[in-house]
Amino acid sequence: MVQAAEQQTGAENILWDLSVFYSSVDDPALQRDMEALEQMADTFASTYRGRVAQLDAEELVEAMIEQERISDLSGRIGSFAFLNFSTNTTDPQLGALVQKVQEHGSRLQQKLLFFDLEWKAVDDDRAQKLLADPTLSAYRHVLESELRYKPYTLSEIEEQLLVEKSVTGRSAWSRFFTQLTSALRFDYDGQKLNQAQVLNYLYDTNRDIRQKAAVSVTEGLRARIMELTYVFNVLAADKASDDKRRGYPTWISARNLSNKAPDDVVNALIEAVTSNYDIVARHYNLKRVLLGYDELYDYDRYAPLPIEAADREFSWEQAREMVLGAYNAFSPRMSEIASWFFSNQWIHAAVLPNKRGGAFSSQTVPSAHPYIMVNFLGKSRDVTTLAHELGHGIHQWLSSQNQTLMNAYTPLTTAEMASVFGEMLVFTDLIEKEPDPAVRLSMLASKLEDSFATVFRQIAMNRFEDGLHTARRSEGELSPDRISEIWLETQRAMFQGSVNLRDDYGLWWSYIGHFIGSPGYVYAYAFGELLVLALFNLYRKRGAEFVPQYIEVLSSGDNDYPDKILAKAGVDLSDPAFWNEGIAALRALVEQEEQLAREVYPEKFASR
Ligand SMILES: [Zn+2]
Repeated sequence: MVQAAEQQTGAENILWDLSVFYSSVDDPALQRDMEALEQMADTFASTYRGRVAQLDAEELVEAMIEQERISDLSGRIGSFAFLNFSTNTTDPQLGALVQKVQEHGSRLQQKLLFFDLEWKAVDDDRAQKLLADPTLSAYRHVLESELRYKPYTLSEIEEQLLVEKSVTGRSAWSRFFTQLTSALRFDYDGQKLNQAQVLNYLYDTNRDIRQKAAVSVTEGLRARIMELTYVFNVLAADKASDDKRRGYPTWISARNLSNKAPDDVVNALIEAVTSNYDIVARHYNLKRVLLGYDELYDYDRYAPLPIEAADREFSWEQAREMVLGAYNAFSPRMSEIASWFFSNQWIHAAVLPNKRGGAFSSQTVPSAHPYIMVNFLGKSRDVTTLAHELGHGIHQWLSSQNQTLMNAYTPLTTAEMASVFGEMLVFTDLIEKEPDPAVRLSMLASKLEDSFATVFRQIAMNRFEDGLHTARRSEGELSPDRISEIWLETQRAMFQGSVNLRDDYGLWWSYIGHFIGSPGYVYAYAFGELLVLALFNLYRKRGAEFVPQYIEVLSSGDNDYPDKILAKAGVDLSDPAFWNEGIAALRALVEQEEQLAREVYPEKFASR
């Protein structure tokens, strides 16, 4: 942050203009709109409660439109509060507004909840007849996808009981896990470190430090392994009984349903990734040579590569030109949309003392437009981040313009479709224009490790979860050793001997919150990233004819299941060959990396 004040990038004055929502946090319209919303929700409830089963197609459309009006207005308030807060997180007035808006939103939600429940209770024949009515076409997908849960929904009293008992069941154990892992302290050099601090040492250039940190992590986990194992067992058993009661055929079925990803699509993804683990091994074998080690151990996975490369600096103006240029070469339409973010003050790029870190694009609501937040410091990574967020922005804008509110927000699996794509466009440009091969090597290596973390690691974790849930269902309560065995087996499979995962690493499943808080979730990251890489490879093969199909896909938002939307662009998600297109893109990057490494450090390869 100090650096930013010293080195001017030109992003210092790039602030967004939120006046599309309200003139300021003191704008009296804010309070007026909140009151109006309560009114609208009350009127909606008194009009429709108890009547959903009798509505005809036209009345149902009216009800959907009214819900969208409510969501749009409350989304304007929520977006305004959230965006303001993001750039000044310590201002108590902004914090209080966010809290107030959240409480207001929750009250609205409770008032409107009845509608979905009543819709799911409409008898099947009537529901199907309504869905077939062309009057309802804009809302067919929303209504139809709600109904998918019907076969797995229990009686009202059972559902109420499950919600009530989860407070002292699943949610209680999940919270206990969070508290337990947050309170864990790791002994390191006479200090007591928390998890983030000790894990950070795994990125150190000094191998002794990394090794000591790894020992510390293992010992810290070992001290609490009895409790951690118990939580894993309880929650796996809880999920097994839920799934059985509801009638889900496998441990992952409920997750696939909420991701709108059919089982055969998820299986094709997993098959494509696990059968190409050799790409991971090739990268780590290369890393071993570059580091000059005889063998890589688990604590070397995040070791920085010893590459001496000049750090490039980019001004805001240069970044803008590069990003718009890269989009323009792909699609002038996308570049035009991206340019509005700059010309209309839809971006906040300045680095400020109390602004939140990272970057995001917020879709807000269809009656406004998306906003992008970045912290621009002028590094090449900042340029690709800008491209990434603009990709989200373009996608969200296209979706908001072409869909009604209920169909405008994409699920996680397809949310990165334009962002990672745009990032690839700019990354490819950046690397092609970079004259120094050492800089290119360093860029490639970090890009690959990012992609591996998203694609291969998440699928290896999915294989662990699969092993864990399957074993808990067939073998009963699992010992720490048994879980460690499943962990090592699934993680060693990914590295294929390129990294020696010591038996001590066996306990490292026990602090990963995803397994506890959202079982089955991790594959969605791999889904999103690989989908984009595959589309990117398709673009390289098909060229210009791919562009309008792709824009059509982006414009579809959430108006159908992702596999159906993509089928219109000639993509079959249930075909492993499609996913292999994405793998091929990663393989090409590894090959490029291997070549470059030999060019930059011929001496390291002399005897090989
Ligand atoms: Zn993203």
